[in-house]
Amino acid sequence: MRVSPEKTRIGFIGLGIMGRPMARNLLRAGYRLVVHNRSRAPVMELVALGATDGGSPAGVGQASDVVITMLPDTPDVEQVVFGPGGLVEGMRPGSVLIDMSTISPTATRTFAERLREKGIGMLDAPVSGGQRGAEEGTLAIMVGGEETLFEACRPIFQVLGRHIVYIGPSGAGQLCKACNQIVVAITLQAVGEALVLAEHSGVDPARVREALLGGFAASRVLEVHGQRMLKGDFTPGFRAALHHKDLHLALGAGRAAGVPLPATALVHELLGALVASGRGDLDHSALALLLRQLAGRT
Ligand code: NAP
Repeated sequence: MRVSPEKTRIGFIGLGIMGRPMARNLLRAGYRLVVHNRSRAPVMELVALGATDGGSPAGVGQASDVVITMLPDTPDVEQVVFGPGGLVEGMRPGSVLIDMSTISPTATRTFAERLREKGIGMLDAPVSGGQRGAEEGTLAIMVGGEETLFEACRPIFQVLGRHIVYIGPSGAGQLCKACNQIVVAITLQAVGEALVLAEHSGVDPARVREALLGGFAASRVLEVHGQRMLKGDFTPGFRAALHHKDLHLALGAGRAAGVPLPATALVHELLGALVASGRGDLDHSALALLLRQLAGRT
């Protein structure tokens, strides 16, 4: 398969915080795009920019050579691909599914196997870099699946991201993403604890952040999410409920490999508490709110 804007029709399903700007970037790069989403508003927005409304996952599958999914969780991908009116009802042998959602590595391998039986290729290609990375086309993309298929699809990845790494066979991209989410979550926890400690010790947390950004503790999480914590602006971004889901996936991968992940388990529980208290739709940096509460402050 040769991928190019002239030859390749791309389907896109899941037009949320990440999917919408990614789809926009593909349109800008000249690809013909067929889209679908559960709610209608983002579909209409993309149609106004030149995309076609696929009507259903099967409709998208029928009209596309490559389909990208950017959905919340494993059951969503399963439903869109294999459910009634799902992608497999429309996709032809020789076409390719690129799942860029963050989902279970084990389920990914099963999905790829089921698709292979129908002659459909699959890559797992989860991303890191957030809404801004999606908008600017600078995502980090970690890819699992057949390497030849990855190479064929590289032009699509180059529109969406800058740091594109082939990780290994099916599911390896998702395993890599689980590793990514462990590092982000534990760093988020560390940044939250540091800033709450400064705040409640009478030391200006903004100056603490500024000082730390120049030393060994510097990180993107301290820069971006530290700033969100200081401002108290928890508009997502990345919803806490989704990060809770990702750590659940990471802990499952740990159990499967016999690897204890104690710090991951702690942050998983804290994000769970945030979700249980009705704040799952806030940005994951709202973890700081919980830490403030633990310190007896609101
Ligand atoms: P989101 O804003 O919740 O978007 C998900 C989209 O999928 C929504 O537009 C939703 O439609 C649609 N959808 C859900 N179920 C569907 C179905 N059955 N059929 C069709 N459309 C369906 O989530 P997001 O932040 O874009 O994240 C998407 C994925 O990327 C997740 O796996 C997440 O973990 C991962 N991710 C997110 C970020 C980030 O910073 N946000 C970064 C890296 C990776 P509605 O409009 O009806 O809700």
